[in-house]
Amino acid sequence: MRCCRLAPWQIYALACLINLNVLMSPRSLRSPLQAWSSPTVSLTEQERTSLNLTLFLGLINALGYVAILVYAVITTIPAAVVGTEQEAQRMMELESDRRRFFKPGAFTPWFAVLFFSAVFMLMHSINLSDLSADQSRRVYLSLFVGLNLPYLVRCTRHSIVVPVNRPQRTFVVVYDAILTKPLFRDHMVFLALSLLGFSGTEYYTFLLLDVVNLTDKLSSLVDAISLNIDSLALVFYVFLTSSLTYASLGITYFPDAFVTSYKGAMVAGAQETVRVTFKSTLSCFWYLVYNFSTRGSLKGVLADAHPKTDEWMPRVAFDTAFFLWVGIILFTTITALLVDSLGKARAASTRRNDAKTNECFVCGLRRYDYENCGLDISSTPSFDEHLSDAHSPWVVVAYLAYLRERDPNLLTGVESYTLAQIATKGDFIPSKACHVMQTQGKALRRSGGD
Ligand SMILES: [Zn+2]
Repeated sequence: MRCCRLAPWQIYALACLINLNVLMSPRSLRSPLQAWSSPTVSLTEQERTSLNLTLFLGLINALGYVAILVYAVITTIPAAVVGTEQEAQRMMELESDRRRFFKPGAFTPWFAVLFFSAVFMLMHSINLSDLSADQSRRVYLSLFVGLNLPYLVRCTRHSIVVPVNRPQRTFVVVYDAILTKPLFRDHMVFLALSLLGFSGTEYYTFLLLDVVNLTDKLSSLVDAISLNIDSLALVFYVFLTSSLTYASLGITYFPDAFVTSYKGAMVAGAQETVRVTFKSTLSCFWYLVYNFSTRGSLKGVLADAHPKTDEWMPRVAFDTAFFLWVGIILFTTITALLVDSLGKARAASTRRNDAKTNECFVCGLRRYDYENCGLDISSTPSFDEHLSDAHSPWVVVAYLAYLRERDPNLLTGVESYTLAQIATKGDFIPSKACHVMQTQGKALRRSGGD
């Protein structure tokens, strides 16, 4: 078990070593596999050694992720297959109407998205006819691969209420494993990045992010984002719609006010600003989105207006409204959402850690109760020993596996009793008690407030 816990850290250490080696190696080694296999690339002896080191460490790193994936498949997939089959069997016994096992209505949102995409492509081809065929193809391909295809897979999963045949069960198990089992999903991504690292060393830098999975403190940050992903996506959507509104208003009423800093044109020590004219509202929209890094201020995007001109008051209203809405309300909403969910994720993580160290998973005893029920200190194992030895969950699992394999004719009284309890789903696991407490005649004090 200790080895299984350490393995991810050892693989992470390998990723650190690869990145250190890449950091110090010359640019000619940025594509390790190409540099290694191409006869035209001439390398010095030191460069060849550095390249071999990167390839060797990269290979061990990739094999490490393969080993973790194999471990994840062995430990999670068989249980998921059995669970899915048992649930399907149970549902089929309860419900005789087979039509309820498949929900065609789940595809309705996908048809809506498909229609939306088709109309978008039509409008794109009509209005942006000056784009090259290659650029247009890239837009359509990313729309299909990035939106339509994943959404179709999602809708297909939602349409299967009960998987009735083997292909459906396989699809359900694979989909659920990829999306709901973090060990499986994350390490598949890391394996892909590790393999891509052979073609470009920049992919190795992403492997360093695995530290988020390995430490509780950082994983609560990921939880904070993933718990609020819907709210954050909505706020981002409002950002985009606000940009569209301001782009439309700006291009209509202040078409000549947009400026950009042109760093190439430094005239007499002063920075020259260049007026920007937009061909369409879309260009203006992308310009505003690109300049969101100014944190909601239109300074730097629009030229200064001057008092006593016609556009002075409209510009005061326009700029102030943008600052209040985007700069204060929307940015503060994002900060508030993240701070709030980070607090909740941290509280949940603290509760989890408290339960892990101060509560017995088997009998439910808490550390305080165990240590204060009057046990003889000299002959009693500590609460940590109670967790790791007497009531280790693995001891219970091993005992159940032993009982399953035991010859029924050789069962002792205790074993027969336990098997009968399991068959009737009876309560054979001790509750707030253990062998030491029973032999010393101690029970949990159940006075009020305990
Ligand atoms: Zn216990």
